[in-house]
Amino acid sequence: MKSLYRAEELVVERAERLLSKAPEGSMEEYRVLCAEYRKLLRQTKTLVRVADLMQSELKALSEELGKVSRVDGLTEIYNRRYFREIFLQEWQRAVTKKKRISVLMIDIDHFKEYNDTYGHLAGDDCLKSVAAAFQRAVRRPQDCVARFGGEEFVVLLPNSREETAVHMAERLIQNIADLCQCERSPLYKKRVTISVGVASMIPAAADQLHAFLDEADQALYEAKAAGRNCFRIYSPSKVEN
Ligand code: GH3
Ligand code: MG
Ligand code: MG
Repeated sequence: MKSLYRAEELVVERAERLLSKAPEGSMEEYRVLCAEYRKLLRQTKTLVRVADLMQSELKALSEELGKVSRVDGLTEIYNRRYFREIFLQEWQRAVTKKKRISVLMIDIDHFKEYNDTYGHLAGDDCLKSVAAAFQRAVRRPQDCVARFGGEEFVVLLPNSREETAVHMAERLIQNIADLCQCERSPLYKKRVTISVGVASMIPAAADQLHAFLDEADQALYEAKAAGRNCFRIYSPSKVEN
């Protein structure tokens, strides 16, 4: 690029010298100069095209990279890393605006058995179907569904009442039951259920985000202990339905 600029400078300098002598400069010299200049221009245009191409490829690559860092490779919903980012933002907003925030921890019941019965690939298909069903169940743009890891998922409902979170838990359980009745679903005629733990609070500045997530986890544990295929709501003294 540097040598090209230098060559262009030299051509321009020569043109200036010739013009200062005009009209005495010979026509042949002008023709050679013009041909050289056209050649340089063609090279410059090619270089600009290459630079444009590289820039758009770089943009596409960085968009792809951004997506990969946010999205879970198997289920194509948000991954845990991105969930933490969103959760932190929404938590801080809830603290500042004194708004309620709700979270649902979800775990597929007896999923090891599912893998053992139908195979790991069928297990993967099941995870994809379940994730898509969760994603469909969530309707507000600020709500966030993510794969927390393995067969665990999480739903974040900012600025929503506990009642809304409970309705969401009921809807998720029902949607999975519906999938098992749907002929087009990989879950058709299979027994897939989920357990859900719900936590909801208006956080104060002193409250800890991870402690809130632990509450949803404790509620999930209670749902498992209660026989699975159900939800439980965390409450400080006891965990109740
Ligand atoms: P529980 O009802 O108590 O949750 O029982 P569980 O069998 O679901 O729980 P456990 O922790 O014993 O087993 C989880 C299983 O999830 C084991 C693991 O192989 C499976 N699993 C985790 N991630 C994936 C995955 O990406 N694909 C598949 N096919 N299976 C996975
Ligand atoms: Mg689990
Ligand atoms: Mg499980």
